[in-house]
Amino acid sequence: MALNEFSLIEEYFSSLDKAPGITLGVGDDGAVLDVPEGEQLLVTVDTLVAGVHFPLDATPADIAHRCLRVNLSDIAAMGAQPRWFTLALTLPDANESWLRQFSQALSDDAELFNCALVGGDTTAGPLSITIQLLGTVPKGKALTRSGAKAGDAIYVTGSLGEAAAALSLFGIGDSVAIGCESEREILLQRFYRPEPRLNEALQLRGLASAALDISDGLLADLGHIARASHLGAEIQLEQLPVAAWLTSLAEPKRVIEWALSGGDDYELCFTVPKENGSAVNTLIEQGELSAGCIGRMTNELGIRCLDAEGNRVNIEQSGYQHF
Ligand SMILES: [Mg+2]
Repeated sequence: MALNEFSLIEEYFSSLDKAPGITLGVGDDGAVLDVPEGEQLLVTVDTLVAGVHFPLDATPADIAHRCLRVNLSDIAAMGAQPRWFTLALTLPDANESWLRQFSQALSDDAELFNCALVGGDTTAGPLSITIQLLGTVPKGKALTRSGAKAGDAIYVTGSLGEAAAALSLFGIGDSVAIGCESEREILLQRFYRPEPRLNEALQLRGLASAALDISDGLLADLGHIARASHLGAEIQLEQLPVAAWLTSLAEPKRVIEWALSGGDDYELCFTVPKENGSAVNTLIEQGELSAGCIGRMTNELGIRCLDAEGNRVNIEQSGYQHF
């Protein structure tokens, strides 16, 4: 069944625009939005292309979750709150079953993370999804990549490496010894439904000196903080947060590579000046912040990995891989 652009948006997406601050949502030439007094607007955009950023056989729900959540992760990395988003959908055909599942999953996540769809565009072509997410942050409080100082401690939220391990389920790289169905499910969830660290990010406002989300791998992304701050960094390998069960899937060397070079985990990496260290550690001890210290920023440029004895370890960095 062929649907024109208007009826597509109307039928599947117009119910997603319920949130504060929307004077005018889906359906006009543009959305009219109210930025709260004293806040600044943050804008981020991500395009996911079938066969490049997700496997061709991904379900519509998987694609919707991943596309919104990678954008939410960017908003979290800035210490902001998500508010509104727009969607540009390029579809090979107007498959109603696909659209129903996609819009339901998008609606579920929009509700879960308190943001609303305020506009969109549809085009015919190879499957590709672009979401532009708008967030707000109190004036001057956005977390950026450039504020780190030498000696600042480096922290990472959650755990690393699971999304990289998930790639082996899609036939990328060597296969892994998956022990049971639940392990496979955890890895797939980790890839398709990364958990945007929005609550953690709010706690880090005023405490972290720099922050970003890990989309390209810890080494690459920490490299962005280091370059933006004109510094280097040292990572203690034994402090890397790797889930214990992950170490049963492959050799230790490979697990470390997943944690250091694997992208797609969407955890936050942030730096903390000495004077804020105890406040951050208290949040961690009280269970309000799931994060751990993995190293420190240095005046010496470049990223160095150290073993428990303080010896430098060379890590092979794997490049970006297509599906
Ligand atoms: Mg990012």
